Amino acid sequence: MSTQKFVSACPRDCQDCCSLEVEVKNGKITAVGGDPDHPVTGGLICPRGRAYPELIYHPDRILKPRLKRGEDWEEISWEKALDLLEEKIRAYTNQYGPAAIFHYHYSGSESLTKKITMRLFDRIGATGVQGDLCMAAGVAAQQFDFGGLEQNDLQDLLNSRGCILWGRNIRVTQSHALPFIQKAKKQGVRLAIVNPLPTGWEEQADLLIRPHPGTDAALALGVSNYLLEKDLIDRDFVEAHTQGFSEFKERARDFSLEKTARITGVAKTDIIKLAHFMVDYKPVTTLLGYGLTRYRGGGNTIRAIDALAVITNNIGREGAGVSYCSEVPGSPSSVLVPGSPSTGPAHQGSAFFGHGPPGTGYSGGPKPTPANGLDPCGQPPAQCP
Ligand code: SF4
Repeated sequence: MSTQKFVSACPRDCQDCCSLEVEVKNGKITAVGGDPDHPVTGGLICPRGRAYPELIYHPDRILKPRLKRGEDWEEISWEKALDLLEEKIRAYTNQYGPAAIFHYHYSGSESLTKKITMRLFDRIGATGVQGDLCMAAGVAAQQFDFGGLEQNDLQDLLNSRGCILWGRNIRVTQSHALPFIQKAKKQGVRLAIVNPLPTGWEEQADLLIRPHPGTDAALALGVSNYLLEKDLIDRDFVEAHTQGFSEFKERARDFSLEKTARITGVAKTDIIKLAHFMVDYKPVTTLLGYGLTRYRGGGNTIRAIDALAVITNNIGREGAGVSYCSEVPGSPSSVLVPGSPSTGPAHQGSAFFGHGPPGTGYSGGPKPTPANGLDPCGQPPAQCP
């Protein structure tokens, strides 16, 4: 049989969602490479993507369900596994009601077969989880600020005059952005890096800011306050497009240059430089990293940076914007499976837990009887049993 080539996509939860070229010989995948025709990933994939054939055909790969008996795992048939699951689900549902089953899911793979469990447990009426341990605070912040999670196309960087990598180390976490930033720099786009850690790209930066970890909100508020005091903000834009500006102004007033420098460890001159960067190199694109939200008040850190972009009119126009993440958790199933969570009527009856340790922030739906059934899927309890 001749060799065939197919175009596919990597389902891993990664910024880039690489387009793949898959080589198949005699019904078996023999090689996976990048799709050279893709406008963003352009044929470049990481070693994990290339290793798919090894992963798929590895003799240790678990292909059948396993049942835990004491310390051992016994391989069982799919029929038996499905019967056992049905029995458990019926038992919990009959005794305590469906909300007593907690479907704890998140990421790992964004494939449809993985996400379809959300629909199953939503149909049952189980308790789901809203948020995660990773990036949900930032997602919620941007949805709150902008009403959605629209992200700029990387190609839009070429319309910018300034780019800020704020807590995002693209060399490690988003290699496909590198060629776009390099091209933008050749076109004269100025680059600022705000990161407490070395990123290996310092020599490329026109402005390098190293705040103490977890002080980015203070930095954004200090920069905003400086711009407000110097009347360097875009008042027409603020008036036309924002709510709560006077409250924001009051909050920012607390962050004088002296106080901001003390909290963040950034020199006053650099705080001023960052303020002028936002104004002098408009439109500015800001790419945020997930680490920004892994501190107390992380959602509000993103909101402070969003606000800084808004008062300088670096939002809603070509070459500008604040990009945090490129997808909405759960979206593949929402789009591809009619009636799945966030679109279907069954969603109305389900209960959801908020961000934080499991069991906190319960919101809506019937009050669940706690901890009767737990179904972890792509969450730390499943990943680190
Ligand atoms: S960078 Fe690697 S893991 Fe991420 S989408 Fe591409 S091939 Fe998959």
